[in-house]
Amino acid sequence: MIIIMKPNADSSDIEHIIEIIKEKGLAPHISVGTNVTIIGVIGDKTKLQDAPLDTIPSVDRIIPVTESYKLSNRKFHPENSIISVGNTTIGPNNLTIMAGPCAIETEEQLMQTALAVKKAGATILRGGAYKPRTSPYSFQGLEEYGLQLMDQARKETGLSVVCEVTSHRAIESAIKYVDMLQIGARNMQNFELLKEAGRSKMPILLKRGIAATIDEWLNAAEYIIAEGNPNVVLCERGIRTYETATRNTLDISAVPVIKSKSHLPIIVDPSHATGVRDYVAPLSKGAVATGADGLMIEVHPCPECALSDGPQSLTFEQFEQLCNQLKPYAALEGRSF
Ligand code: PEP
Ligand code: MN
Repeated sequence: MIIIMKPNADSSDIEHIIEIIKEKGLAPHISVGTNVTIIGVIGDKTKLQDAPLDTIPSVDRIIPVTESYKLSNRKFHPENSIISVGNTTIGPNNLTIMAGPCAIETEEQLMQTALAVKKAGATILRGGAYKPRTSPYSFQGLEEYGLQLMDQARKETGLSVVCEVTSHRAIESAIKYVDMLQIGARNMQNFELLKEAGRSKMPILLKRGIAATIDEWLNAAEYIIAEGNPNVVLCERGIRTYETATRNTLDISAVPVIKSKSHLPIIVDPSHATGVRDYVAPLSKGAVATGADGLMIEVHPCPECALSDGPQSLTFEQFEQLCNQLKPYAALEGRSF
């Protein structure tokens, strides 16, 4: 449930409510807005049955929260969250472009790509060091050496860097080298990994599971935030449907739905959503128009030589052209990049 305080409630009124909540063994979550303060209550609300908070004069009203996710719920936190990642932020005023290869392959491949995507307007370099491949015989990633190359790329370019983690061991290594950890679609409901990502206190990019509902996705975010890590950014990357013309089906409606249900930023990955290079630009524009806070796009110096996801990767020229085309779309949405 959430407790909406009256606009004239002062800090002692708020403290009083917090004390009652804590006395009952529940956790308060305070959100101070410009006019009113909202206090979310996490835990079994039946414990408050003998403490009728709605009779306290400084309380305006009490609203039950029926969704099982609370900390990721907009009702608990009406303002949009802004998440810092290295030297950049993801949130309502920016269009954050994350770009880079599907997998880190060589030093030369990564450094060339980092410079090219930075020149075009990206602020975050992506690249996989631990690749969750469908076949165990496909390239699995450079692991710790790949992370070291990401660290080198961020030092050489000033870009922030994001890398997927697939295990506890990968998290332990990645926190030394990157600015943001990615939990991939296949691990969205790996609850132990989500808790570990929460305990890392690092910014987390949480991709939507291949067959996850929005409710399941926000509950996955809740696992991370419940460990004391509010730094979560969601990524819509397409879901599996009966359609076979694209690799997945981009659920573009997830953007406004997430915006209404949650305060967390959401970005769109049109590369994994479609699996087809030609569809990346139109869907990027669609994502910006629906209110996405950013995009994640795969870029490779030589897509046809890529060890993974070549057919959906853009060349440097295609990526630069797309960024130029996106600028007026971003401006229309009041976002800069
Ligand atoms: C990726 O971004 O490298 C990736 C594997 O994406 P997803 O988890 O969305 O399939
Ligand atoms: Mn990929």
